[in-house]
Amino acid sequence: MNEAITKKQSLNSVRLQTDLILQATGDGVYGLNSEGKTVFANPAACRLTGFSEEEMLGKSQHKLCHHSHSDGSNYDVHECPIYLAFKDGKIHRESNEVFWRKDGTSFPVEYVSTPIWDAGELIGAVVSFRDISERVALEAKLVESKERERLLQSDLHHVARVSAMGEVASAMAHELNQPLTAVMNYVQASRRLLDADTQTAKQKAHGYMDKAIAQAGRAGEIIRGLRKFVEKEDTERTFENINEIINEAIALVLPGGQSSTLKLTTKLSPDLSDILVHKVRLQQVVVNLVRNALEALEGSDAPHIEVSTRLYKDGAIEVCICDNGPGLPEEVSQKLFQSFVTTKQNGMGVGLSICKTIVEEHGGEINTIKNEQGGVTFCFTLPTTTLANNTGADGER
Ligand code: ADP
Repeated sequence: MNEAITKKQSLNSVRLQTDLILQATGDGVYGLNSEGKTVFANPAACRLTGFSEEEMLGKSQHKLCHHSHSDGSNYDVHECPIYLAFKDGKIHRESNEVFWRKDGTSFPVEYVSTPIWDAGELIGAVVSFRDISERVALEAKLVESKERERLLQSDLHHVARVSAMGEVASAMAHELNQPLTAVMNYVQASRRLLDADTQTAKQKAHGYMDKAIAQAGRAGEIIRGLRKFVEKEDTERTFENINEIINEAIALVLPGGQSSTLKLTTKLSPDLSDILVHKVRLQQVVVNLVRNALEALEGSDAPHIEVSTRLYKDGAIEVCICDNGPGLPEEVSQKLFQSFVTTKQNGMGVGLSICKTIVEEHGGEINTIKNEQGGVTFCFTLPTTTLANNTGADGER
């Protein structure tokens, strides 16, 4: 008898403790019988849904608080995971649904519906849920800020691309000027020769026309290369010998050979391996640097340019263009490789910034050295990737 009383007392104490826990917890907890009717609801469940316990007891919890999806469409009770718990005897968890308050508003919930067994029989389920509005809002903010970051990033890429396109457009005008002027000169000279109407003049005109064709071809090559750059297509890299690129570039800057006063020498190392490069772009670098040197030497007494190549650190190749001109003007030396920095009346100030972009595209660096005897040397490096034949040539032009 005493034993029965003690058992009853301890059962009561467990119930009391369970009640206290249910009262105190911040999570909404309610019990359902096997018909889905509410058999109990804790204060948090009432607070969160706006229904009193009396309003819930004996009512279909699905009809009260779970009748619709977040978009307002009907939530079929047969699909309800909460009710499934007391049908399939499994625990069901969800964190992507809403519960509806008495006032018709909804809130996102995370819930777990646990079946209740009694002597091997499913008699209902206990549901524990919490309002996850804050978490959802935080997640939405995170997604929004990530989306904003993504948009900013793509804006940035767009700006970079547009500005590169701007540079390329200026560079195109800059680069095309030279071959187009050469074409014009050759054609004009040919016309004069043809007017003379002698056999020798005709032969000479023939030669000039060939040169004009070569220059027009060069202009086409520049346009093709730059267009590919604008389209962000990587122009094909090929194995080239840097010395040959230099010789061709010099021939482009001085198509008619050097003038009587200018001395242009090359000191090209024969020990250089072929490297994988964008040939036309590297030619542009050399053309820009040699033309700048030529322009700097205008009016000089004994103008001299030396173009040299050598093996550099870590198997890289170094190319230097050295002149004995006036050297870099003070006002540009700090911002030399920036766009639109020029001291020339008709200069665009993009040549060196394009050179830097191209050299860096090849993994190299470009720098200047102030020559002791006056003038400036532009040096750029090109890391070698793979070797092929060795070729090279020294000479004076
Ligand atoms: P641009 O030739 O259109 O001016 P660049 O970017 O090629 O544009 O050159 C920028 C400036 O750098 C030139 O205007 C000139 O003042 C200076 N510069 C470049 N190369 C030399 C050089 N070899 N000697 C002296 N100044 C140079």
